[in-house]
Amino acid sequence: MSKTLRTKVSRVFLSMLENCSNLLIILAIFDISMEISEDMVIYKNRKEKSPKISVTRRLEEGANESKLDIFVHTGSHVDAPYHVLENGKKIDEMPLDRFMGKAIVIDFTKVKESITKKDLINSSIKIQKYDIVLLKTKNQLEKDFDFNFVYLEKTGAEYLVSKKIKAVGIDSLGIERNQPNHITHNILAENSIPIFEGLDLSKVKQGKYFFHGLPLKIMNGDASPVRAVLVSHR
Ligand SMILES: [Zn+2]
Repeated sequence: MSKTLRTKVSRVFLSMLENCSNLLIILAIFDISMEISEDMVIYKNRKEKSPKISVTRRLEEGANESKLDIFVHTGSHVDAPYHVLENGKKIDEMPLDRFMGKAIVIDFTKVKESITKKDLINSSIKIQKYDIVLLKTKNQLEKDFDFNFVYLEKTGAEYLVSKKIKAVGIDSLGIERNQPNHITHNILAENSIPIFEGLDLSKVKQGKYFFHGLPLKIMNGDASPVRAVLVSHR
């Protein structure tokens, strides 16, 4: 091997190593998913949306086996555009990179009613192209559903679309309330932006992370439960 080639190879190898080590230095993994149980908090306390978990076989019969019957918008989940649009993409048709990538958590815990374009522009952390934007609010995923949860208002959704974000998420079971024609959902869905709802952001601070929130491969799904995590890394 000539000296120049050797130098080139080692440079490439070194940069690969650097990339690998960048990926490998994980400082913490935050589980931002709701626990699934029959008495978990559900949207508008509508009992029919509670999951049913039944044991179908016991270890003494061969193995522990159970059945989970769950509404796909219960708990931490992601909405596909098909949720609100007749011709919108279904959950199994969306590229997986939409559900993972660099993410920012923005602290809006002081906001009382809704997150607007102005709030997003004035946030101390700047939104960049392809960011997965997670809105941390005063919402709490506790025993009782909060009917006055903080939501993403129409102008906020339009602004996020203009920033070409990859996905958006919020710590309530809905990204909007009391807006005619589900306008926030529609604006995001028309731009193929997945909407994560029911994220538990109570233990994470504003900042930059890597996010994973892969949906189940549900044929023609309008949404799917997800196991959502935030990775803080160097
Ligand atoms: Zn939903």
